[in-house]
Order: sequence, then C-alpha cells, then structure tokens
Amino acid sequence: MRFSTLASAAAASVPAALFAHAAAAGHYDYVIVGGGNSGLVVAERLTENSGVSVLVLEAGNDYDIDFNVTCVVPGLDLTVTGGSIVDWNYTTAPQVNLANRQVPYPRGYILGGSTSTNFMAYTRGAAAPYDQWAAIGNEGWDWNSVLPYFKKSIQFTPPEANQSYIPYDASQYAGEGPLQVSFGHYIEPISIYFATALTNKTGPNLTMKETNDGSPIGVGYLATTINPKNANRDSSWTSFGLTASSRSNFHVQTHTLATRILFENSSSGDLVANGVEYRDNSGAIQVAYADKEVILTAGAFGSPQLLMVSGIGPASQLQGNGIDVKVDLPGVGQNLLDHLFFGPVYEVIDNITTANQFNANASLYAEYLREWKTEGEGELAGAISSMSAWERVPDDVLDSIGAQELKNLRSDWNHIQLEVIASGSVPSGKAGNYVSPAAVISYPFSKGNVTIVSNSTTVKPIVQPNWLSSEIDQKVAIWAFRQVREVMLSETMAPIVLGEAYPGLDKTSDEDILAAIQAVAHPIYQASGTCAMKAQSDGGVVNSKLVVYGTKNVRVADASIFPIITSANTMAPVYMVAEKAADLIKADQ
Ligand SMILES: Cc1cc2nc3c(=O)[nH]c(=O)nc-3n(C[C@H](O)[C@H](O)[C@H](O)COP(=O)(O)OP(=O)(O)OC[C@H]3O[C@@H](n4cnc5c(N)ncnc54)[C@H](O)[C@@H]3O)c2cc1C
Repeated sequence: MRFSTLASAAAASVPAALFAHAAAAGHYDYVIVGGGNSGLVVAERLTENSGVSVLVLEAGNDYDIDFNVTCVVPGLDLTVTGGSIVDWNYTTAPQVNLANRQVPYPRGYILGGSTSTNFMAYTRGAAAPYDQWAAIGNEGWDWNSVLPYFKKSIQFTPPEANQSYIPYDASQYAGEGPLQVSFGHYIEPISIYFATALTNKTGPNLTMKETNDGSPIGVGYLATTINPKNANRDSSWTSFGLTASSRSNFHVQTHTLATRILFENSSSGDLVANGVEYRDNSGAIQVAYADKEVILTAGAFGSPQLLMVSGIGPASQLQGNGIDVKVDLPGVGQNLLDHLFFGPVYEVIDNITTANQFNANASLYAEYLREWKTEGEGELAGAISSMSAWERVPDDVLDSIGAQELKNLRSDWNHIQLEVIASGSVPSGKAGNYVSPAAVISYPFSKGNVTIVSNSTTVKPIVQPNWLSSEIDQKVAIWAFRQVREVMLSETMAPIVLGEAYPGLDKTSDEDILAAIQAVAHPIYQASGTCAMKAQSDGGVVNSKLVVYGTKNVRVADASIFPIITSANTMAPVYMVAEKAADLIKADQ
C-alpha cells in the first residue's frame, strides 16, 4: 500500500513502513473518490489484479486516530454519529412537516465511511425492490442476479450455542469475502422482549425467521458486521481496506477532499474524464490522473455534489452557481429517499440494560469497557439495536387511507420495519431507564433532493428530504406508531415496562400522534437515490453499468445509485452494489 496522509496523530499509530507519499500529481488506472462503504470494496477488488493501479481519495480521517476506540466498540455506536469528529455533521433544511426542525444527518467522515460509524445491522430487505430495479430497465440487477454479490463480500459466523433463539439459514450467507458478519456476543434484553411480544401479538401475526432471504416479513435478530473473534466493529476499512493495503498497487490518501472531476478537452461526444482535482490537508490543490476511469463512491450527498461542481447536473442550478454546464442532467441530486424513524419512549425496569444506565454511571461504563476489551463480551459487545420486524400494513387499512400503490407492492415487500433501541430520552430531559421502540417507513413517498449552493465541495450542499410531505406517509406513520404502542403495552412486555414516557397515553387521536411523530422523527441515515440508475428520460443519472450519462468513463457506485430504496437498511445493498460495480469495471478493461 502507498498510504499518504498529513495527519500526524494517525502517523503515530501506523507502522512507518506503510507510509510513502503517493505521487501528488501521479497517474493511476482508476481514481476512486470516497474511501467509504463502497469505495474500498471497489478498490480492493480492482487491485486483485497487480497490473491495475488504484488511488482512493478520502476526505475524512484515518482509522487509527484516538477516536478509534469508540468506533470499534459495537455498543458505543451511538457515540460516533452526529457531533463526532468522524462525522460530516450534515443538518437538513428545515422540515416543514417535522415541526420545522433542522434534523442532524450523520455521514461517516473516516476510512470506511458510514460503515465505521453506523449501527452495523446487515440486512438485505425484500427481493421485490431489486426485481423492480431490473423491471425499470436495469438488466442484471434483479434479486437472483445480485444475491451472489451480497454473499461474495461476507464471511459468516453462526450464532453461539447459547443463542439458540436466533433463527438463521447459513446458506443465505455462504461467502468467502473479508467482511465479518455475525450476531454478536450480546443481544440486549429489550430486543428479546420486543421480538417475543411481536410474535405473541395477534395483530401483525409475525413469526420468527431468517430475514435476509429476500422474504423478510416476520421477526428476526439482526446479523451484524461485528467480528466475533474480537467483538470489534468490522468496517469496509478493517475488512476490504486492510486486505488491499498489503498490495503495492493500492493507494489511499486521507484528509483529501475531491474538488472537481477533470475532463479532456473535446468539442463533441461523451465527456472523457482524465483525473480528479483535490484539496490536500494543507489546503493545496493537487491533481490525480485517471488513465482509465473516475469512480465516485462519495455517498448520497458527496457524489451528486461532485458531479454538479464538475458541470454535470441540472443546468439552471449549475449556472446559478457560476458553473459551466458540461452535461445538463436534471436527475443529479434528485430522488433523495430515506427511511424515517419514529416512536414512543418507554421507561423500563433497571434489569433491562440500556445505554442510559452506563452513560450515567462512570464505574459501570468502565466495567463494561473492561469486559469488552479483555473478554470480548458484555453489554458493549453488541450493537444498540439487535432485532427487526418487517411488516405489511393490512389491506383494509391501506384501503381506508387510499394507499393503493402500497397494496399493489409484491407480497414480500414490507411497508414498515419495527425495532427497538436500548436507549432513549424524553423532550423534558427527565432522567430514566428508557428504551425507544420505533417504526420505520420502508416505502416512503416523500422525496427530497440535494442542492448545491457553491461551485466548491468545501461548502456543504443543502439537504432537503421533505420528510412526511406525503399524506400517505403520514397516515402509515400514525398506524405504525399505534402498532408499536400496542406491542409495548402487551402482556409480554408488562413485567418490564413501567410506563410510556413519551408522548404519554393521553395522546391518542390521529392529530396527537402525528404531532408526537413530527416532534421527534429522524431518518435512520440511509440516504439514497440521488444519482439514480434509470433511464435518462426518467430522471436517471447512471445507466445499468453505472456510467454517468454524457460521459464515457465516470461511474457512480454507492447508495446514490439506488433507483428505488431497498426495503431494509442500506449497508448490505451498498456492499452488493460495490461488488457488482467492480465486476462491471473489470468486464470493460
Ligand atoms: C449513523 C448511521 C447509522 C447507520 N446504521 C445502519 C445500519 O445499522 N445498517 C445499515 O444497513 N445501514 C446503516 N446506515 C446506512 C449505511 O451505513 C449507508 O447507507 C452506507 O454505508 C452508505 O455507503 P456509501 O458508500 O454510499 O457512503 P459512505 O460509506 O458514507 O462513504 C462515502 C465516503 O466518501 C467520502 N467523501 C464524500 N465526499 C468526498 C469528497 N468530495 N472527497 C473525498 N471523499 C469524500 C466520505 O467521507 C465517506 O468516507 C447508517 C448510516 C449512518 C450514518
């Protein structure tokens, strides 16, 4: 590996032999922008061929900064999201339908990108959305075609002997990739209670099952990207990145912000990219030349932004920022979709472990940390959320709210996801042992966009998700909120639930519940769709080989290419997209 960074803190913890300056204005076959979830997978796969050179430009931090300690501890996942030095700390535009709030929108700012800061749930969701990707013209992206790419990334460890309550099907995970997938060494008690209560409740009529098989409707414990050998988070850096780092044809530069894609001069035909301009840690502008392709894996905000400042995007927006229009591509930055997360908060008995407890008790925290460090066990050895249910809204409810499109979705396509977080807070700030059971809208109608306000990537774009702008989303949210409340007030939960701390059981009308949702809802940070893979005439940005329309050799290969959001969490699908992207690129070599 050629590893170049100007961060002295990082240099202190990486063997000196690994450091060598990548040629500042050097030539590489491929320049990849974004060393996150996808970028490091693409880089690792391409550098399997020793004759191919790859440079990854990553704006964020190295993995080996001091903050590393909290990144790798699964149970501290909540602490590395918004507000941390390994996050971009985006905030949305005011959300009219969320009480005008500007909602924090975390994105990983570190090698591994959001896989280094996320909640580690490894979920694929329903097969139906992928089949729909193919049905709208993306040949080769249907479930049967992408399943081998899901499996390719991972190495699976089954649940431990004392976790016999976890249903799983090892054949769904048969792969030989570097990414560790396991169920972790610790499942919070609240997850077990909530999962059991869901299966006991007659309403949703859900059964426990393996939910990564393309038919998720039911309840399952979450496979996670936790390395069972040391109970550490496994990110795309610790899996794919470290695998590639032993190769001399793999180069990565951190603290390096890509500022523009450079194109050959040509008066006609599709644009040919020949490099990427970037700003290094000292503020100096440098160029990395790409002899074959430029690949954008900068995520759902970074990739459309870089295209736009480089002259590819909606013409009026580009002109408004003084940017020469190279390709008028109206779809760039549009079609922003995410899964909205909301729910009541409950106070539970002290025997139910929560992050609230160890956050309020330094010696308890120290003891948990010691247990994790020395034994790889205990409360910090698992993610903050360990189960999910996937559910359809009943047909009669859909009829009553006029949601014919949801009714028409194929029967494996879940409408909502239910989960519980072993942590919580209430607007009054009152201390307590809280948990946050929640619902998630899996098929949102509310769409947003990413808009640039400058010709420079040093200025963040405006992120406007328009959450709950759709009346159907609002009605589904109200129904789902009631589901969560009903489960929490069921007999199964009674021994541990002390009471509803938010919004309070006097809030029962549709209006009350909608207001309660609007006051607290936030996304589960799965922004997607802003460089959608679909026909150009339909607002698409890339074709089914992930090549940007109007260019010969610029691809996008991250969450922004999802034409339709997947029905579950987005990390596993991004690993899949990256694996397939690498094969598409190799096929064109
Ligand atoms: C807090 C949080 C919790 C989540 N929890 C889960 C979960 O439990 N399960 C799940 O499936 N999904 C989860 N997600 C979502 C999931 O992690 C993301 O959808 C996915 O990882 C995105 O992958 P990506 O490659 O598109 O982007 P990223 O992984 O974010 O990578 C983009 C990279 O590009 C870099 N970059 C951006 N712009 C530039 C530029 N101009 N120059 C150089 N580098 C640049 C960024 O720093 C980053 O490293 C979560 C996300 C977050 C933030």
